[in-house]
Amino acid sequence: MTALFPFQNSFARLPAGFFEPARPFGAPAPTLLRLNRALAGELGLDPDALAAPEGVEALAGARLPEGAEPLAAAYAGHQFGNFVPRLGDGRALLLGEVVDRAGQRRDIQLKGAGPTSFSRGGDGFAALGPVLREYLVSEAVHALGIPTTRALAATLTGAEVYREVPLPGAVLTRVAASHIRVGSFQFFAARGDREGLSELLRFAIRRHDPEAERAENPALAFLEGVIARQADLVARWMLVGFVHGVMNTDNMTVSGETIDYGPCAFLDRADPEAVFSSIDRMGRYAFRNQPGIALWNLTRLAEALLPLLADDEATAIKRAETALDGFAARFLDAHLAGMRAKLGLLTEEEGDRALADDLLKAMAENGADHTLLFRRLADAVTGEAEPARSLFIDPTRFDAFAERWRQRLAREPEVDAAERRALMRRVSPAVIPRNHRVEEALAAAHRGDMAPFSALERVLAHPFDDPPAELAHLAEEPPGDWRDYRTF
Ligand code: AMP
Ligand code: MG
Ligand code: MG
Repeated sequence: MTALFPFQNSFARLPAGFFEPARPFGAPAPTLLRLNRALAGELGLDPDALAAPEGVEALAGARLPEGAEPLAAAYAGHQFGNFVPRLGDGRALLLGEVVDRAGQRRDIQLKGAGPTSFSRGGDGFAALGPVLREYLVSEAVHALGIPTTRALAATLTGAEVYREVPLPGAVLTRVAASHIRVGSFQFFAARGDREGLSELLRFAIRRHDPEAERAENPALAFLEGVIARQADLVARWMLVGFVHGVMNTDNMTVSGETIDYGPCAFLDRADPEAVFSSIDRMGRYAFRNQPGIALWNLTRLAEALLPLLADDEATAIKRAETALDGFAARFLDAHLAGMRAKLGLLTEEEGDRALADDLLKAMAENGADHTLLFRRLADAVTGEAEPARSLFIDPTRFDAFAERWRQRLAREPEVDAAERRALMRRVSPAVIPRNHRVEEALAAAHRGDMAPFSALERVLAHPFDDPPAELAHLAEEPPGDWRDYRTF
């Protein structure tokens, strides 16, 4: 019999202090809720074996699969701006790594499989709702073409977890390019552990920036790599209206994958100030703040790396500053390139940024639905502008934009209108995980009815296609009383 997972355990080979050994708690009655067969295939795993009783037991943390060396990784982090020197995996454990079909090493982690030495006051468990939410939304983000951790499976443990009320306990099997975070570097830097810091850097470079190994200054090349990946990532979030919600430095990967789907949400109406997380009272992680917060977090990474950037501090600081200065341009370029695509512009003109910014401003001032607007803008290339126009409280604000946009399109090279529309629809989704639909699907799942979840999962797997007629409602705006949606 072949192993469920052909595990390698490179992280477990790192020195003591990088992690604490951990054991899954032993779910009493595991059942499989969701298995991501496509992802299993991509990872070179046998989906049928994973869906069989032994596989489900492994996915729920009831049995340790062969070759696993379960551990909880150590990391620190700035949480809402306050530094916590020791956070770590409090409710997640790394089983090991697999090398996928494309040759990329991926972590296999169980989230919610019980307490670890980093659990502090927490119980180490996860409830059904948040597990299904992460499964659905992380896979939707992937389908949108945005780098993210993935969801291989969701299982019920058969135990209850207590969140004011008893809830069904669940485990998410998370797959990631790695789980190394900005906070992982802060952990060693805060202890003045230069040896640990160098070791982590070597590990991260091997994993994510192998060419940095040959650079004149590997630490600097790595820092520049993380800055570029995060600038691109946050630009992608902004283009689809994604609000991460908890951009603490322990929730920012060095791989450039989106991680931690706790309080995230997608915008319905365009609103730069949008905050969905009930604990983000100051709006630190509001939609419009995301690029600035990313830079703040990257500055914390640069600080942690200072001892490795140069022998003397003044030179190290200069190098860090120069690298960080690159963030804004990289972000703005990525965002503008994305906006050009959404506006159907194949060429570049000086005034494009102003045109794009003016549209976003008008959308925000007029409560236009972010997703529907861009989708209907594509349709306006070949058909009526009225459906886009009608999303504006004051439709004349749309008219003012549309006139400039049409003039700009007239200066574009001859491209068949149908083709331009198709290009625009390829970058502006028809469906996103709308908050009211996600909540509806989770509420049904708690009643044992997975049908709404499945329907949502189905359309979110192909977000750039119009949903079939019977599921068209999943692309629609929420009713008005969904404006004050809060996540926890
Ligand atoms: P987060 O805000 O989700 O990034 O979590 C911050 C820290 O709290 C991380 O170190 C988590 O491992 C830990 N944590 C979150 N929820 C739990 C829980 N239920 N039990 C133990 N630790 C937790
Ligand atoms: Mg986290
Ligand atoms: Mg979380």
